[in-house]
Amino acid sequence: MNTVAFHTFGCKLNFSETSTIERKFKQKGYKKIPINDNPNKVIINTCSVTENADKKCKELIKKIKNKSPKTEIDIIGCYAQLKPKEISQINGVNLVLGMKEKFEISNYFNDKKEKILHSKINGITKFNATYSINERTRAFLKIQDGCNYGCSFCTIPLARGKSRSNTINEVLNKINKLISKGSKEIVLSGINIGDFGIVNGKRKESFTDLIIAIEKINKKIRFRISSIEPNLLNDKIIKVISKSNKFLNHFHMPLQSGNNKILKDMSRRYTKELYEKKVKKIKSLMPDACIGGDVIVGFPGESKSDFKETYKFINNLSINYLHVFPYSERVNTRADIMKNKIPTNEKALRSKMLRILSDKKKRFFYDKNIGLKKSVLFEKGKKNDWVNGFTENYIKVKVPYNDNIIGKIKSVRLRKTTNDLTVIGDLI
Ligand code: SF4
Repeated sequence: MNTVAFHTFGCKLNFSETSTIERKFKQKGYKKIPINDNPNKVIINTCSVTENADKKCKELIKKIKNKSPKTEIDIIGCYAQLKPKEISQINGVNLVLGMKEKFEISNYFNDKKEKILHSKINGITKFNATYSINERTRAFLKIQDGCNYGCSFCTIPLARGKSRSNTINEVLNKINKLISKGSKEIVLSGINIGDFGIVNGKRKESFTDLIIAIEKINKKIRFRISSIEPNLLNDKIIKVISKSNKFLNHFHMPLQSGNNKILKDMSRRYTKELYEKKVKKIKSLMPDACIGGDVIVGFPGESKSDFKETYKFINNLSINYLHVFPYSERVNTRADIMKNKIPTNEKALRSKMLRILSDKKKRFFYDKNIGLKKSVLFEKGKKNDWVNGFTENYIKVKVPYNDNIIGKIKSVRLRKTTNDLTVIGDLI
C-alpha cells in the first residue's frame, strides 16, 4: 500500500485545505502515516506570510531527505504559488503545484513528466470548499478564499488570488454535513471573510446574508467567526450575533497599527477611530465578549512615537488579547520598497512590549470572569493530567483529565487563572 504523510505550515485555512487533500488521498487508497515513518510521499502545504515560513519549509525538506532519501516530496500552498521555480530547485523536491492545481494533487501522484504544475493566480475564480475536523469537536470550514484588498505588506492576494466564495446554500449544506459528523463547533474561515459573496467573479451575496441564514439553522451547534476586517464587521452582524444562541461572543479583528499614518501606508481601509467604534459597539451589546486583534510592529516608517501611540491606543482599548507580528519584508509588495526600515532589534523590542501588554489584558479579562458559569467545549489531548477547552468567550479552561468529557460541551464554574494563562475550572 502506498503511504503518504502531510505537513502544514501557516494558518487554519491551510490546515483545512490539507485535511481535504488528505481525504482525497484516502479515497485513492493511500494510507496516511507519520512523517517520521518513511512514507512513500510527503505533501508539504506551505505558507509565505513571513520570511521565516519560507525558511522553515526549506529546513523541513532537508530533514525529510536526510531521514528518508527515497521519499518523494511534493510542495503546495502559498510559497509554491509565489516561488515555484525556486522551490523546484531545492534538493529533494519532486513536484510543485500551484494554487489551482493543488486540489488535484492526488491525480498527479504518478506523473513524473513535469516538475512544476502552476497557473497564474489572476485567472482563478473557482472556489474550492474545504474543511478540517478537530477530533469531532471543532471544525474549520472554509467559506471564502483570496482577497481583493491589496494591503501594502501582504503577499496573500498574490499567492491566493481574487476574492471568491462558496454560495450560502452550499455553506449550509457543508454545515449540515459537519453536524452529522459530530462537530460541536464550526469556525467560519477564509482570508477576508467579511468580503464573502463573490461567486465566479461577481458579487451575489454578502457575509451579513450568510450570518442571518446560519442563525436560522435549527440545530444545536456553536459558531465562531475566525477573523474579520473591522470595516466589514457591520452593526447588523454585531446585532445578530449579540442575540444569537449559536454565534459565540468572540471576535477577532486585525488592527495592525494604532497610528493612522501607518494604517494609511499599509493601505488598510479603516482608521483607529473606526476600530475603536467597533470595539465599543461589540462591548455595549455583549459586555462579556472577547475581542482579539493582530498587530504588526516595525512597519517601515513606524517611528518610536508612532509605536508609542499604538501602544497607548491598545492599552486604552477594551480588547482582550493580541497576536503580535514583527514586520517581515516580502518581495513584490509595495511595503518592501518603502524607506525607513526598522532595525530587527527595535522590532523585537516592540513585539516584546506588545506581547507583555497582551498577556496583561488577557489576564485581566480572565480574572473578570472568575466565579462565572461558562460552557466549555473540551478538546482531545491529555496535558499533564488536565484536559483543555474554550468557553464561549474564548477563555482557555482546564479541568482534571476525564475521558468522558472529550468532545462535549460542559458547564464549568471558573475558579482561578494560572501563571500560564489558563483558567482552572470546576465541572458543575
Ligand atoms: S485584507 Fe489585507 S492583510 Fe488581509 S489578506 Fe487582504 S491584502 Fe492581505
